[in-house]
Amino acid sequence: MPNMTWLADVLRQGGLKVQEENGWQTRGHGEMGDVRGIMLHHTAGPAEGNYPSLNIVRDGDSSLPGPRAQLGLGRDGTWIVIAAGIAYHAGTGGPWESVPKNEGNEYMIGVEAESVGTRPDWTPEQLDAYPRGVAALLKHVHQPASRAIGHKEWAPERKSDPAFWPGDMDGFRTEVEKHLNGQGGPAPAPSPGQPQPGGREFGTWGTGVKVHSEPKLDSPVVHTLNGPTKVTVDFQRRGDLVVADGFSNPWWAHVPQFNGFMTNIYIDHPDSLLPGVPQN
Ligand SMILES: [Zn+2]
Repeated sequence: MPNMTWLADVLRQGGLKVQEENGWQTRGHGEMGDVRGIMLHHTAGPAEGNYPSLNIVRDGDSSLPGPRAQLGLGRDGTWIVIAAGIAYHAGTGGPWESVPKNEGNEYMIGVEAESVGTRPDWTPEQLDAYPRGVAALLKHVHQPASRAIGHKEWAPERKSDPAFWPGDMDGFRTEVEKHLNGQGGPAPAPSPGQPQPGGREFGTWGTGVKVHSEPKLDSPVVHTLNGPTKVTVDFQRRGDLVVADGFSNPWWAHVPQFNGFMTNIYIDHPDSLLPGVPQN
């Protein structure tokens, strides 16, 4: 099938929070075959941050180029849309149902959910959003809950992900089944003012907004936001007073995606100090 440019819309329509990575619609190692299942992974990434594995999942490294999954799942339950074409996530394994041996990448969508993988650290948001999102994807491709498969089921001799899911993969599929039957309940409403594990998502405004390595104007610029976008802020810190566009504000938002700080002025929220974001 052509690139899966429907991924973001289908997840949004499923009631999920969605973050689209620039260029996802054309990213991939060629076009997928027909989608016959969803493969579930954990990132085995860092313990802190909302989706600290973004770079490795999107870009890979010299041992295996990215994308290494079409989708990510952050600790705050946000689905991160990374690629619409083939991703290198399944590796050797199978066969499984109608997916031929060693052809998981061609026929299965890969999801890399953020988890250290060595202890049960799934957040309440992930416990809701992971099966909810998988159900939305399966519904779109007209496949049943049995087509949600763990990487460790595909390649049991060399893989353990996803680990520590309540009820393991059967428990996961039971949740997917509930959503497919319309018994999963509505998506939880965001709770403004409550700190969220992994950070809160905000819109930004302004053009050419610089992200610095420290909350200081003379620290190196690590990224520039060309225009309005969405960012996840995991904490905020008092730093240099910034005066711009008629505002002045000493508070800076830490954006783990860029491993840097941007002034709260260009976060699209009326308060100088962002609600529900820890100070650090
Ligand atoms: Zn995996």
